[in-house]
Amino acid sequence: MSSLSNYSKEELIKEVQLKNRILVEGLSFPIDIFKNLDVGGEIQETVHVLFTADKHAHKDVEFPACFLTPKGKFRVGIRWNQDSLLSIRYIDGQYHVFDRNTPVFENLYFVTRSPYYKLSASDGTSFRTIATDNGHGALFVSYSNECSLKDKGLDCLFCNINATKSIYGDAQGISWKTPKQVGEAVGAGYREYGFDHVTISGGFVPERREVEYYLDVAEAIQNATGLEDFNGTACVGAPRDLTVLEKYKEAGYRTFATNMEVWSEKMFDLICPGKAQECGGRSNWLAALKYEVELFGKYRVRSTLVSGIEPKESLMTGIEYLVENGVIAQPSQWYVNVGSALQGHRTPDPDWHWEVFERTVSLYRKHGVTWDQLRDANAGSDSVPFDLYRILEGIDVKLKKGLDQYE
Ligand code: SF4
Repeated sequence: MSSLSNYSKEELIKEVQLKNRILVEGLSFPIDIFKNLDVGGEIQETVHVLFTADKHAHKDVEFPACFLTPKGKFRVGIRWNQDSLLSIRYIDGQYHVFDRNTPVFENLYFVTRSPYYKLSASDGTSFRTIATDNGHGALFVSYSNECSLKDKGLDCLFCNINATKSIYGDAQGISWKTPKQVGEAVGAGYREYGFDHVTISGGFVPERREVEYYLDVAEAIQNATGLEDFNGTACVGAPRDLTVLEKYKEAGYRTFATNMEVWSEKMFDLICPGKAQECGGRSNWLAALKYEVELFGKYRVRSTLVSGIEPKESLMTGIEYLVENGVIAQPSQWYVNVGSALQGHRTPDPDWHWEVFERTVSLYRKHGVTWDQLRDANAGSDSVPFDLYRILEGIDVKLKKGLDQYE
């Protein structure tokens, strides 16, 4: 367990501010810098099941998934950007993060690989491609690694799901997951390796026929785990017929996620044309979120917003509205994805993002959102606003059997 009480809030916040900067700017390093680490053996590797965050392709070289900050043990994902002033250097057998020529995080501890990643489903498919380890006991299933909106020219402008598939799909053996595979992976993860939360997500499927799949997956997980409530999050675009949402609740999902991505009405239509045109428009997204809160409960529903595309006050208006109405609005730094339509654009600076996170966390605390609610409704619990929430609320994460010693 990381013990936040060993450090002052100021020290911990400074660490998370640096983490925020690393996630905004990425890290530069030579492609072979990790050759002295047992990545994919002792050290957990990145599996690109949905969106790659690296600015440069590296399909033949595995990178570590993340390292921990020295004090608070906050997880920091590796995002490769050769233009970044922040870098990883290997000196005398140790890895360090430098800001230009000044070391800022020394002797990096890379998160170790759960033995769960060594296992495969009965058909031979590796568990690491079926349900990834998102840290702190969370598994993440991206049932597909493509989005059918692309075929219509309606994919979200910030998204690189289809480019990610082209680069890493074959290299890492990632493809569509069957409910049976998901049941086997999640069943083993829950029984033997300390996982206790799973998110089911993925790109749009043709004709929006995902509901049957989600119901079959829920049944397979229930059979494999023996749990009726398996702490699952279904991440789905707003259906035109809102009564469909009742089926997810009946199937046993504890929480629900409908990601608006952009709050401004005009920008939503422009940035997310498929979400606007295929799902009954922005008003239907808001209606879906309202009904989801009625079905699943207050703060049992999440909506992620890509933070940095629209003006700050527009974004904050959306976050405030959503949190006031029982939705966990989750701002996520726009780190411009390679292969997306917006490739070449720039995200705002780290201070811009930090202010959004501080204001968001203030809203969570003002409305009494609990750590369990934040964790259960999200695919991972290591985002910058969640780290900040933990510091301010003094919440340590627990050690779980089979998970990394610091988790
Ligand atoms: S709906 Fe948008 S964000 Fe989601 S996978 Fe498709 S293009 Fe990407």
